Amino acid sequence: MKTFEELGVSAEIRRAIEEMGYEQPMPVQEEVIPYLLGDNNDVVALAQTGTGKTAAFGLPLIQKTDVRRYEPQALILCPTRELCLQIAGDLNDYGKYTDGLRVLPVYGGSSIESQIRALRKGVHIIVATPGRLLDLMERKTVSLATVRNVVMDEADEMLDMGFTDSINAILADVPQDRNTLLFSATMSPEIARIAKNYLHNAKEITIGRKNESTANVKHVAYIVHAKDKYETLKRIVDYYPQIYAIIFCRTRKETQEIAEKLMQEGYNADALHGELSQAQRDQVMQKFRIRNLQLLVATDVAARGLDVDDLTHVINYGLPDDIESYTHRSGRTGRAGKTGTSIAIINLREKGKLKAIERVIAKKFEMGTMPTAKQICEKQLIKVIDDLEKVKVNEEEIADFMPDVYRKLDWLSKEDLIKRMVSHEFNRFSEYYRNREEIETVSTASEKKERNKPDGKGKAKKNSGPRQAEEGYERLFINLGKNDNFYPGELMALLNSRTRGHVELGRIDLMKNFSFFEVEEGSAQTVLKALNGQKWNGHRVTVEIAGENGQQDTAGRKAGKRSAKKEKPAAKRAAKPKAAQQEKPSKPSSKNDWKQFFQNNNDFADEDGPWGKKKKGKK
Ligand code: AMP
Repeated sequence: MKTFEELGVSAEIRRAIEEMGYEQPMPVQEEVIPYLLGDNNDVVALAQTGTGKTAAFGLPLIQKTDVRRYEPQALILCPTRELCLQIAGDLNDYGKYTDGLRVLPVYGGSSIESQIRALRKGVHIIVATPGRLLDLMERKTVSLATVRNVVMDEADEMLDMGFTDSINAILADVPQDRNTLLFSATMSPEIARIAKNYLHNAKEITIGRKNESTANVKHVAYIVHAKDKYETLKRIVDYYPQIYAIIFCRTRKETQEIAEKLMQEGYNADALHGELSQAQRDQVMQKFRIRNLQLLVATDVAARGLDVDDLTHVINYGLPDDIESYTHRSGRTGRAGKTGTSIAIINLREKGKLKAIERVIAKKFEMGTMPTAKQICEKQLIKVIDDLEKVKVNEEEIADFMPDVYRKLDWLSKEDLIKRMVSHEFNRFSEYYRNREEIETVSTASEKKERNKPDGKGKAKKNSGPRQAEEGYERLFINLGKNDNFYPGELMALLNSRTRGHVELGRIDLMKNFSFFEVEEGSAQTVLKALNGQKWNGHRVTVEIAGENGQQDTAGRKAGKRSAKKEKPAAKRAAKPKAAQQEKPSKPSSKNDWKQFFQNNNDFADEDGPWGKKKKGKK
């Protein structure tokens, strides 16, 4: 392995990074630094956060900067403000002994005027989010004509965030005669296209195997009933008193809720998500970085750019939609030669995703055994004892008080004293767990057994009331069903064509004439707005929140306030006029109108669902 000196890193930069504790170059640095120190050398590097990529491009960029010329010489594009600030901060650290070096972070969401003023004074390296940089370019407050090195960091994220056009516009303004370096965690067709368009004879570097980030990571899954997810999270956190973890949630709302619950219950936790102000986010991240915060509950997007080593655990409170997010999440632990654990707390429905993830990470999930109340208390007790042993005693400061303290505790034996000290800390846990029921993890086998019980208990449960949406989802009614040739594919196509961005779909229950489907909490209103009143296959689409306006969710069993009992048998219903029978009835536009619709249309009688005779007959 080469040294930084052998890679050609200058003495002043070496001095700075040595102070930062960099002794040996990391693999990506070994590959990239000497290459980037040369001219007209383009690189595509597949490397994830934590591989040392910032120094890999940062050191040569600084070294190549001519500090006497106050003009932009290098441009680093990155997706988020956090990453932008982090990179600029790192570059300033590397450039500690490079006199006069000016690095300017340029990002949206903060005063453009102060950025313009800084640009006017002259900068050497610009670290920018694409949107803000383009804005500055359009205002003619920055010129990229002198830029000779361009880095696109987390290029895949930038493309995902819709920056493709901005990137194209920016790169069109940078002279062709340049080094271009593209960092991405993944190689997608879009990345390949950008590389083809903007890089010439690029050197391709893949840091480690694709799955290397998980090499030191153990993957453990706890499959539990949805109602037990939060309790399971608490047990895991309690079982590892020294835990230092990010808990990933799927939505901002869930992130906030979980963090609030944990805080209320005395955990050292806080939330990080996009609805917080920038100042709040900065504060939370800083608290977490310096370990003043033990548990950070975060969304994937908000946690991006937060570079924290030494996480003991990553907790997936539910699995993310795409496998890549899982590898990103789990790659945040087990870094720098340390081991880490990525825990997934999921319900049975997410089990399929485990298999898909296993294929990508080339590792099996271990099925977690739920810590029992006794085991948790034992762990906490040991922690109390460990903490007691480690307490730093400041003899001088307490000397004055000790005679009184000794006098007061004189009547207690050493054993009594120890018991009291221990209980003082430990009681919170022992009291909480004393009468708690143990949580069972759900195995596929037991779940199947439950469903197949001859007494149909599983089913009876389902029939006993309106179906509730899965946790984190909202259940919607739509006035289209199988009779309209409306199936899951059609629903997805309808959503895709009428909504912008991704709408996460949960369970879909198709009936003959209408259906129910679940969407991620928070997107229900968007879906209502997007679909209501639209035309689909000649029908006017109506979507409502299931259960609203006194209408109940059918889940294939009940809809409206009508119960099967009260319903007149189909044959006894008012005879329809012949003409009406022959005509294809127009679809009701609201769930309220279904009552009338059903009374007028016999197909309701054998509806494979709520009021259907079939169901009744089966019982
Ligand atoms: P990055 O992938 O650039 O976010 O870097 C990941 C972490 O590794 C950061 O905390 C860096 O400060 C650290 N790091 C980068 N290069 C080295 C090195 N050569 N030796 C030790 N730590 C490093």
